Amino acid sequence: MEISNDSHHHKLTLKHANCPYYCGGCGQLGFGLTYVCREGCNFFLHKECGKPEKLIIKYPFSEKCVMKFQDGGSGVDSACDACGKKIQRLHYRCTCTFVKRNVHPCCLVRYEKTLDAIRGLTLHLRKVAASKCLHCRTIDLRSKVRGWAYVSPCGTYSYHVACVMEMINTNWKNGFFTGKNDPFLIIKQQFPEDMDQMHKLTVVHKEMQTKKQAKAILSVLYHVFTGNPFGLVGAAKSYFGN
Ligand SMILES: [Zn+2]
Ligand SMILES: [Zn+2]
Ligand SMILES: [Zn+2]
Ligand SMILES: [Zn+2]
Ligand SMILES: [Zn+2]
Repeated sequence: MEISNDSHHHKLTLKHANCPYYCGGCGQLGFGLTYVCREGCNFFLHKECGKPEKLIIKYPFSEKCVMKFQDGGSGVDSACDACGKKIQRLHYRCTCTFVKRNVHPCCLVRYEKTLDAIRGLTLHLRKVAASKCLHCRTIDLRSKVRGWAYVSPCGTYSYHVACVMEMINTNWKNGFFTGKNDPFLIIKQQFPEDMDQMHKLTVVHKEMQTKKQAKAILSVLYHVFTGNPFGLVGAAKSYFGN
């Protein structure tokens, strides 16, 4: 399948890109089935940027918000609602009057609503992370940009979609990822480890809490045993021979 596109002066052919690339239409990372220059230039366009299947798409988290495909215009330079990266040219912009949302075409169509992280645990695409992202350890991508995330039903585990992309890219650079594979495979491999790590952090946190509680309880005991309602440290210390 071939197309012509304003982004490039040669015809483009749809084929499997054998490595991740940056799209010439929206500037974002891509992989898999892609429009590639027929003349062999190092030019790539996301499938959804080269020939969008739909020019109007509903915002996935609201029935009322409708997003329209556009080339340039007023959304340029704002942050993508999904990944937080800058809108460069091609994007979808919502037609709402008050809140203006802008999303990269690849961000709007690429992310499945659900992602099987491990057997029996499905992560769901949400507008915001419910807890600290397992990758970057923050809830919001940065101030004023929350960023979409895959969240476990219990809300304990989250991954920003931006962080998912970063992991895919890093793993490609490290030579672990072979274009033909399921790009989300990396999450399936990484998740148990991250979950484990997060679990350890939670346990440490709980232990600290327990220690704090233990201290508070001890301090109450000091008061009771020493008959010192103000908990004078010296008195308590001498009581316990410390
Ligand atoms: Zn693109
Ligand atoms: Zn070319
Ligand atoms: Zn809207
Ligand atoms: Zn984006
Ligand atoms: Zn993150």
